Amino acid sequence: MKRLVVVGNGMAGMACVEQILKYGQMFHVTVFGDETHVNYNRIMLSSVLAGEKSADDIVINSREWYRTNEIDLRVGVRIVDVDSARKTVTGDDGSVTPYDTLLLATGSTAWMPPIKGLDKDGVFTFRTLDDTRALLQRAGPETRAVVIGGGLLGLEAARGLQMHGCQVTVVHLMATLMERQLDPPGGRFLMAKMKELGIRVVLGKSTTAIRGKGRVEGVEFTGDESLDCDLVVVAAGIRPNVDLARKAGIEVKRGIVVNDHMETSNPDIFAVGECVEHRGVCYGLVAPLFDQGKVLAATMTGRRGPAYEGTVQAAKLKIVGVEMFSAGNIEDEGAEAVRYEDPSLGIYKKVALRNGKLAGVILVGDTADSHRYMEWLRTDADLTERRRHLLFPPPAADVGLDVAEMADSATVCGCVGVTKGTIIHAIHERGVNTLSQLKEATRACTGCGSCTSLCQDLLRAVAPDFEDEKKKTICACVPFAEDRLRDILRSQKLRSVQDVLEIYGNGVGCEICKPALSYMLDMLWCGDHDEDRSARYINDRVHANIQKDGTFSVIPRMRGGVTTPDELRRIADVADKYQVPMVKVTGSQRIDLLGIKKSDLPKVWADLGMPSGQAYTKGVRMVKTCVGTEFCRFGTQNSTAAGIEMERRFEQLFTPHKVKMAAVGCPRNCAEATVKDIGLIGVEGGWQVVVGGAAGKSVRKADLLTTVETTEQALEASELFFQYYRENANYLERTYDFVERLGIEKVRKETVYATDTVKAGLLDRLAKSKARSYDAWKEGQSPRNPTQFVPITVKEKVLV
Ligand SMILES: Cc1cc2nc3c(=O)[nH]c(=O)nc-3n(C[C@H](O)[C@H](O)[C@H](O)COP(=O)(O)OP(=O)(O)OC[C@H]3O[C@@H](n4cnc5c(N)ncnc54)[C@H](O)[C@@H]3O)c2cc1C
Ligand code: SF4
Repeated sequence: MKRLVVVGNGMAGMACVEQILKYGQMFHVTVFGDETHVNYNRIMLSSVLAGEKSADDIVINSREWYRTNEIDLRVGVRIVDVDSARKTVTGDDGSVTPYDTLLLATGSTAWMPPIKGLDKDGVFTFRTLDDTRALLQRAGPETRAVVIGGGLLGLEAARGLQMHGCQVTVVHLMATLMERQLDPPGGRFLMAKMKELGIRVVLGKSTTAIRGKGRVEGVEFTGDESLDCDLVVVAAGIRPNVDLARKAGIEVKRGIVVNDHMETSNPDIFAVGECVEHRGVCYGLVAPLFDQGKVLAATMTGRRGPAYEGTVQAAKLKIVGVEMFSAGNIEDEGAEAVRYEDPSLGIYKKVALRNGKLAGVILVGDTADSHRYMEWLRTDADLTERRRHLLFPPPAADVGLDVAEMADSATVCGCVGVTKGTIIHAIHERGVNTLSQLKEATRACTGCGSCTSLCQDLLRAVAPDFEDEKKKTICACVPFAEDRLRDILRSQKLRSVQDVLEIYGNGVGCEICKPALSYMLDMLWCGDHDEDRSARYINDRVHANIQKDGTFSVIPRMRGGVTTPDELRRIADVADKYQVPMVKVTGSQRIDLLGIKKSDLPKVWADLGMPSGQAYTKGVRMVKTCVGTEFCRFGTQNSTAAGIEMERRFEQLFTPHKVKMAAVGCPRNCAEATVKDIGLIGVEGGWQVVVGGAAGKSVRKADLLTTVETTEQALEASELFFQYYRENANYLERTYDFVERLGIEKVRKETVYATDTVKAGLLDRLAKSKARSYDAWKEGQSPRNPTQFVPITVKEKVLV
């Protein structure tokens, strides 16, 4: 078998090897990578820096993959020489490895501009996982960071650092941000967005030196100006790694020169990715490397045929809350520009047309249509007939045509390079019917998540059994999709289950639709509806969990898992008095009294004098906490107090399915916040709010919703998500399915990054519901009967 040596264990090298493997085991492959990790998704380093993903989350190929495919992986070894006459490569560990075919996939390195003092402690680049880890170690609240470079990388680095509490200034040489991708108005719109996030931007400044005695103390600009800082990130551009190619004696200009079949000037040496120059272009993006990899795999396996003709360049900023997309040639010269601006909404759109075809596009503030523009660019579509819809979505009747019109070779997921054809193949050949299955089968949608809706459109259009959950009806009694039903109930001002059934249903209902309608009315009218107890589940009617022997389980509320000696005494007394067969500490830090007779329930509640823990309902269950800063030496936040307050704000509210929460004082995560519906994770200088986790029948690590500085901000972010879930999830849909279905990007956009008006609306409706909520064990004393209402007084617990 021929020996293939690959230098560079990055995205391009491994994408090409994956393609080669599709043709069968034709080579014995050895891969050298000077980084010490397996192949990972470099573009997601921005998310790792922002704390949205961990290093494990961005692994593309695990060690197992290399083993299974019999690839000899040599990490931590840098190839320092190539002898193209003897056909060997030499590593910095002294190894000499022979090859029959050599693939150079050496990528780029960060370009360091001529600035004095770049060797000082506190100067970083942002290219590798190690760079990211080093930055994460240094970043912290109050750290003053300067990012040199206002391009995509610089802005993503800036946001990432800011997420850790750094005060960040972006210093850019040019007059507007991302000037290669945006025109001046686009740059100004983007700048406004960055400022809104609290990131300072200084334009037109040339950095001359880094100040400090050994360690960074500031940066100096031309004209004797300077800025104090503790940390500097240089993100001023990249340079292709071509040294080895030079040593191998192959043609090199700015990059390693390759032809349309990805061949270099030496027939045994090939190159792919950011290190190459094709038709005079050196790319700095992932999409071209996937295109190149496919062509190269065909060439290397003796199927020379398909040609690589270049890739339309497109850039998308991956900063949550800041949408920016640019593709093609955005130069005005010789082009007809069509623009739209709305400063209040922060939306700027521009398309540049040449000969009736799209030459380039800029979108700031609203990138929903980016795939449409990419398709027009890729297919060189004639837009004469579509001029009316250049800047706005087509009429509703045409929606969906976009995905049908996309070519099979069009990239859907830019982060992992998955085409429409691959997705369609997975649906037809591997029986993929859900987004999760699609992720597993193709890895589409596992990167930044911005292709979620496109993937769903494809599933909807092609998968025979794809269930568009939004369109799911509850049951045959009320034949409407849930979102439509919510609209009807709202517009028709219906407040009772029976009215809904009589007007829009079969007049009778069943045990499936009645609890769902009960929930919907309660949520829509913020508790001001006609409650019909008979429409609730049995557990909700008796306010306890029925057990297999017909007895009941009683779990009183213990906010945050904290109790008092007095409460414990009362629980013990109740257990004695009613001869409770089992008293059990639950996994959710509460005490369960099992085996209580139905007739004893009201007396037990009265004797306990504690509110219901509602461990039986489709509603808020509990908030599990760890001891946090109060007692733990690792604690960075007072997780117990935060958890208790969280429970106070959410308890007694109904939700589409049960909601479990947790608050932990540090990422050691002792109360398992990452597998809860909502979790608060204390970090140095703030909180991470995570949502959509599960550790039951399904296991899912929660997604990061946001990182904030104060406990109040963390609680507010939780409230926004909580109410958003209440209003938009299908009945009986757990948060982990809900977040998965919508995609965390959309959830973030419509909650923590929504407009102030939208946020205020969510919080207001939640507050109204909360005001009308009441302890289930005090049924009959609700605010609906204010004269009888007696608020329960729970003895103040420690730490509140
Ligand atoms: C933070 C960040 C965000 C990005 N965001 C985006 C984005 O949103 N969209 C987008 O399209 N692109 C983005 N990119 C660019 C994208 O990551 C690159 O285009 C892509 O990784 C290039 O792949 P590559 O394999 O050619 O190079 P690399 O991924 O750099 O891989 C090359 C590998 O070869 C190794 N190597 C080099 N020389 C040697 C040697 N002599 N011996 C052994 N090993 C060697 C390097 O250490 C490296 O591991 C981003 C990049 C960064 C850093
Ligand atoms: S999660 Fe952190 S703060 Fe909380 S108990 Fe564990 S180690 Fe301590």
